[in-house]
Amino acid sequence: EKITIAIDGYSSTGKSTIAKQLAKALNYIYVDTGAMYRGVTLYAMRNGFISETSNDLEGLIAALDNIDLRFVYNETLGFAELFLNDENVEREIRTMEVSRLVSQVATVEEVREKLVAIQQRMGLEKGIVMDGRDIGTVVFPDAELKIFMTASPEKRATRRYKELLDKGEEVKYSEVLKNVEHRDYIDSHREISPLKKADDAIEFDNSDMGLEDQFSRVLDFANR
Ligand code: C5P
Repeated sequence: EKITIAIDGYSSTGKSTIAKQLAKALNYIYVDTGAMYRGVTLYAMRNGFISETSNDLEGLIAALDNIDLRFVYNETLGFAELFLNDENVEREIRTMEVSRLVSQVATVEEVREKLVAIQQRMGLEKGIVMDGRDIGTVVFPDAELKIFMTASPEKRATRRYKELLDKGEEVKYSEVLKNVEHRDYIDSHREISPLKKADDAIEFDNSDMGLEDQFSRVLDFANR
């Protein structure tokens, strides 16, 4: 019988890598909710509602109805890509600039309400793996399996740094580490749906674990 799997945790703990593999192995749908917050952030940047130096969150709230987010499965990549108002933004939502601004956008109650509603609709059908910060606590409090992933900030920053270099972004390790720690701080201290482990989630520290090990452990949990 198909279940709902919630994977939460800090930035760059490898949630999405594991969640994607798990969805593939179980033939489930995978949803990256971070991509949705990044999509709203990209929209806000492009329309002048947020920048490194200013923000107009009221303006963003008033414009929320103009934001259409959709996932479209890409056969070649083996996962769904995010479309913002019919444009594929999968690359643009992963830049450092978006990473620096997204946690601020994610504190806005109206933004969260909109995205949580979409996520809950996607989860009406069982057989879903969703990763984020509030999936086990807010989006699917009744999920049959909840995993809370952690790893040291240095391990996480190293992973993220390599990813960004691979994509050709010019970044400094120190900047990536600062961003990861900064986002974790905002995410766990915001008033609405702060990042925290659900009481019934399994805590999973993967600081010293390779991908294969992690995957087989998580698959065991899912098959229990
Ligand atoms: O998962 P990812 O690192 O791409 O998420 C980007 C940001 O989006 C997080 O740092 C957090 O501020 C926000 N987010 C959230 N709730 C989620 C998923 C992401 O607040 N469920």
